Amino acid sequence: MKALVFHGPGESSWDEVPDPALRDAGDVVVRVDAVTICGTDLHILKGNVPEVAPGTVLGHEAVGEVVETGADVRTVRPGDRVLVSCITACGRCRFCREARYGQCLGGGGWVLGHLIDGTQAEYVRVPYADMSVHPLSSAVSNQDAVLLADIFPTAYEVGVLNGRVRPGDTVLVVGAGPIGLAAITSAQLFSPGRIIAVDLSPARLEAARRFGADAVANGAEDPARLVSDLTDGTGADVAIEAVGVPESFELCTRTVRAGGHVANIGVHGKPAVLHLEDLWIKDVTITTGLVDTSSTPMLLGMLATGRLPTSSLVTHTFGLDRMEEAYGVFSAAAESGALKVVLERAGA
Ligand SMILES: [Zn+2]
Ligand SMILES: [Zn+2]
Repeated sequence: MKALVFHGPGESSWDEVPDPALRDAGDVVVRVDAVTICGTDLHILKGNVPEVAPGTVLGHEAVGEVVETGADVRTVRPGDRVLVSCITACGRCRFCREARYGQCLGGGGWVLGHLIDGTQAEYVRVPYADMSVHPLSSAVSNQDAVLLADIFPTAYEVGVLNGRVRPGDTVLVVGAGPIGLAAITSAQLFSPGRIIAVDLSPARLEAARRFGADAVANGAEDPARLVSDLTDGTGADVAIEAVGVPESFELCTRTVRAGGHVANIGVHGKPAVLHLEDLWIKDVTITTGLVDTSSTPMLLGMLATGRLPTSSLVTHTFGLDRMEEAYGVFSAAAESGALKVVLERAGA
C-alpha cells in the first residue's frame, strides 16, 4: 500500500510500504476513506517530537471501513464504517478506568502516527479497537466525522471543559486556527456571554467571526486592552490558549480575571514565563492537557443531529494520493488560507 512515511526532520514521502496486518487479538485493520493533516504532524516534521522514529507512517485522524478484526474484537466487524480516534485506549489501566485515555499506560494514548504507524495511508492497524474506534451513523459525512478524530474533542475537552465555560462568560480564545475555531464553536454549547478571538492573521480573524466570535483582535495590536475594555477592566472568565508559543500563553494569564480559568491547549516547544508575581493573588486556575476523547461519542451524536457545525473548517480537499501536495498547502496556511485539509480515497 501507499503511506506518508516520516524519514527524519524535514523529510517525508508518499511511499510503497507493506500492508498492515493484525498483531493482537484486539486489533482491527481499517481501510482509510478520509484522513486529515494535523498541526502536530508539522511539529513532528520540524523535529519537535523526537519519539517519532524514522520509518513511521504519520497521521492520527481518519474515517474508514473495518476490513479485518482480531478474535477478541466485539464492537465492530468487517464492513463497519468507523471513526479512528487520535487516542487509543487499553481500557484496563488506572488512567483508562478514570476515562483519562490520553494518559493510557497499557500501550494506548496518542500512539497512532507517533509510536506506531498512523492513518495517512491506504490502510491502518488500530490496537484496542473496542475502545479506540467509533462506529459511524450514515447521517454523518466523512468530511464532518474526521474532524471529531482530534480537533473537536481536543478543543472541547482541553479548552472548553477544562476552562469551565459557563453561561454568560466572557471567553477569550487565543489562536484562530482549526483548534481555536473548534473551541469557539464548542464554547457556544454553554451559552457564553461573549467570545473574543485573537490571531495574527486577518483571514483567521474573519473565520473566527464566522464561527461565532463577537469581537476579534489582532495579536499585534494590544488584545489585552480590548479584553479589558469589554469587561470593565476585570478580564476574561476563561482564556483558552490554542497556539503553543510563550506570548499566547502569557497573554492568557495576563487577561484572565481573578478567579478565572486559563485552559492551555497549545503544544509548546519552548518554556513560557509563569508570572507568579502577578498571579499568586488572583485565584486563577491553569490547566493543561492532552485530549482523552471521552467526549467523542457525545460529539458524534450532536454531529448526527446537526448541532455541531464542523464542515466549514475544511478549506481544501485532495485525493489520498496527493498527500505531499496537501502537506504543502497545509504547512503554507498563511498563503493558502488552509484551515483543515481532507484527503479522500478515490470512490469514498
Ligand atoms: Zn492532531
Ligand atoms: Zn489504558
